[in-house]
Amino acid sequence: MTKKKITKKTTKLQPKSRQKTQTSSNKKPLVHYKDPLRHFHPATSVILAGYRPSLSQNSVKAPLFRTSTFEFSSAKDGEKFFQRAYHLPGDDKKDPGLIYSRLNNPNIEIAEDKLVAAELGAAESLLFPSGMSAITTTILGLCEPNAKILYSDPVYGGTYFFLKTMCPQRFQIQTVPIDTSNLELVEKSLRSENFDIVYLESPTNPTMKLADIQGIREIIAKYSPKTLLVVDNTFLGPVFQAPLTLGADIVLYSATKFLGGHSDIIAGVVLAKDKKWISTIKDYRTILGCTTAPDTAWLLTRSIETLWVRMQRQAEKAQKVAVQLAKHPKIKTVYYPGLLTPKDKEQYKIFKAQCKGPGSMISFDLKVKERRKVFRFLDSLQICHLAVSLGGTESLIQHPRSMTHSDMTEFDLDRAQISESLVRLSVGLESSEDLIKDIFQALGKI
Ligand code: PLP
Repeated sequence: MTKKKITKKTTKLQPKSRQKTQTSSNKKPLVHYKDPLRHFHPATSVILAGYRPSLSQNSVKAPLFRTSTFEFSSAKDGEKFFQRAYHLPGDDKKDPGLIYSRLNNPNIEIAEDKLVAAELGAAESLLFPSGMSAITTTILGLCEPNAKILYSDPVYGGTYFFLKTMCPQRFQIQTVPIDTSNLELVEKSLRSENFDIVYLESPTNPTMKLADIQGIREIIAKYSPKTLLVVDNTFLGPVFQAPLTLGADIVLYSATKFLGGHSDIIAGVVLAKDKKWISTIKDYRTILGCTTAPDTAWLLTRSIETLWVRMQRQAEKAQKVAVQLAKHPKIKTVYYPGLLTPKDKEQYKIFKAQCKGPGSMISFDLKVKERRKVFRFLDSLQICHLAVSLGGTESLIQHPRSMTHSDMTEFDLDRAQISESLVRLSVGLESSEDLIKDIFQALGKI
């Protein structure tokens, strides 16, 4: 695990440098998002955090800093900035200032500060050029060879491939899948083996199973307190689930999804309760070179401000759609947290205790078994786009077994209950009545 750092000079967090960058004339420091804004609801903080107009010609919205490099005001400054950024002898631990956009850029830092404001319990965040890059860099940054990871079964197809194949084959990281919705199974695993990371998706993509984050934290505390709890919170977002307040150490997102919200960027985010994890992961981000373009960071900054209103409206619409789907004679089962009832026992209890809302991801099994009939249904839709991804303003529908999860083995697909008849729907901002009509007319074709 991380105890062994890469090199002494690259292990510490690089302080924020935004203050130095937004400005030409006004050198007043920014109001930092943490202390003054924490008493607001996150929906308020995300709008205020990270950017101060008076430092950028009073422009209400942040300018786009489309530059690869930053001019030093003197050679001495350049030397100092590098000492600070690389933790070289002479590092006085102050703000390193802006150096080069692979290390830091004002648009990235503004987005990161807004993301911290959005995520309850987060101390720091890091932006990545994709969700997969956030996930892989986090795991490579936190695991030494021979580390062990216990992970949710299923997880997103790309995460599955990295954990199941690349980690053991290329990085000597052992990985074990488990149904993390079953607390007893998790306890059995942690009692019998030492894991460095427990990696959860909750709800799981695409089967919508919830893991009891707090319950798993308690098991970790009992058997292996040093184990890190990492949660991919892409499906519910900070609006409906706050894993860091439930005992997670690190939260990950594909910001391509709800955080971006408009299906026009690819991005990822890592947030942590403790700055030391961010520091380690940031070193890997700098050296692996997975830094986000300022344009993407700017678009994400814009999007986070509407996160609450979008996710809440999408969830209201999804609830209406899910209720109607559950009544349709050609649908066998609908998997949606908003349909859980006390009869669903543990899953219902987890939902009530841990989620502030059901989100807008729905999976459902059609009654037909043949792929060609499922495809006929998908091809007949007129409003829902037949496309992977999720969390955009438009509804997106796809067939996980042949699309997002097609790199899973048949055995693993069956074990995870990703059947031929399963489809996954991301409900957008269209009228729920129109969506229901569209889905029903397509069901009429099979
Ligand atoms: N995590 C989840 C739950 C996802 O659904 C996805 C992509 O669909 C990812 C991570 C990977 O994100 P990205 O496509 O932004 O790399």
